Parts: sequence; C-alpha cells; structure tokens
Amino acid sequence: MPKHPVIAIDGPAGSGKSTAARLLARKLGYTHVDTGALYRTVTWLAIERGVDLADERALAAVVPAIHVRFEPSADGQRVFSGPRDISREIRTPELTRQVRFAAVSPLVRKALVPVQREFAERGPCVMEGRDIGTVIFPDAQVKFYLDAPLRVRAERRWKELVAAGKSATLEEVEREEAARDESDLKRATAPLRKADDAIVVDTGRFDIDGMVEHLARLTGERLKGGGA
Ligand code: C5P
Repeated sequence: MPKHPVIAIDGPAGSGKSTAARLLARKLGYTHVDTGALYRTVTWLAIERGVDLADERALAAVVPAIHVRFEPSADGQRVFSGPRDISREIRTPELTRQVRFAAVSPLVRKALVPVQREFAERGPCVMEGRDIGTVIFPDAQVKFYLDAPLRVRAERRWKELVAAGKSATLEEVEREEAARDESDLKRATAPLRKADDAIVVDTGRFDIDGMVEHLARLTGERLKGGGA
C-alpha cells in the first residue's frame, strides 16, 4: 500500500481524466499529479537539449534532469520544470505527436517509476495516466478507468483546440486521437489497460459536476471499505 491514499485514474486521451482528476483532487484536498506531463516534460527537455528522440538511451538520460512541480491555477494547473513554467510548451500539437518516443520507451518508463512514486510519499494524491493502477500503484486504494467513445473524446479535444485559437478539423483530431490510442494500447511496455479492480466510468454519461460527485462518492465508499 502506498504510504498515503492514492486515487489512480487511467484512461485514453480525451477521456476527461485531467479535468476529473483536477476537480476530484481539489474536492478532497489531495495533490493532483498529471503523469502525462512527465512524459511531455522529458520530451520537451530532450528537444531543448538537442537529443535525438529516437535514441532511447539518450532520452532516458534526460529523466533525472526534469524537476517537475505542479501548481494549481484558475485554468487548470501550471507545470514547472525547475524554475521554468512550461505549461504551454508541453501542450503544443507538435510536442503531443513527439511524446510517443518517451511513452513507448521501456527505459524512459522505468526511469519515471520512482519519480511518480515519490509524489505519493509526500501526501495523498489523485494520480492520472495510462498505467497508474496497473504498474505504478497496483495497490492503490482507489482505481478508476475513465473512458468515452472516440468521437466524444475527439470532440472534446477539438473544442479545446478551437478555444485556444488553433485551427484543426474534427476529423484530423479524431485521426490523431485514434493514433494515440493505438500506440498506447499496443505498446509492449505498460500498455493502457484497465486494472482488474478498477471502477469503469463512461464520462460521456455525465456533466463535469455530476462526474466529480460520482467519483467522490465512490472514493469515499472504497476508502471506508478498505480501511485506508
Ligand atoms: O495524458 P497526456 O495526453 O498528457 O499524456 C501524454 C502522453 O504520455 C500520452 O499520449 C501517453 O502516450 C503517455 N503517457 C503514458 N503513461 C502515462 C501517462 C502518459 O504513456 N502514465
């Protein structure tokens, strides 16, 4: 068991994990740990340093140099690497395409395990990603697997992009989401998979407040039941 309660939230891109994790963490007073941001930060720092992303050893060697800190903000949360706010840099469409080098690399994934576990040493957290309930915290007190149909997920991402002033068609976004699903589901190391004891939530069935209520209620029941 992790020292402090860990709520693991896994699921595919655009499943609403980040919003759910952020609001659930806020409601419970837990820290929100977005592990996708770690893969993105490794990719960003590697590019900054001129590392060839296809060189797995060189990419994994970047991991000890990331010092990621999350700070809650009005519009989500800000991500810092050391003193630098890289929230915007790590979310560009280009970086989103490049992050798969880090995600499929067994060496990078291995190097990021202690980094992720370390967050739970400091206090209770809601940790979101693809392999939190299966690999990082297989004994997390509460596990959720959030999902929604591809079209619903693509529409969400597309609306976010349009709101941020980016031009993309819904079809393009849907194709990219499908490609990321394929890569996340089929990779050899820590593929996206529902943990046997995870609670599946179809986020297409809820509005955001309803979903957070639902997750908070289930969390309360699980924590009480598990004696954590
Ligand atoms: O969640 P987000 O889209 O920011 O994650 C970026 C990428 O990092 C994903 O496309 C996924 O391939 C990878 N990732 C992962 N394992 C995690 C979190 C993210 O492979 N625990």
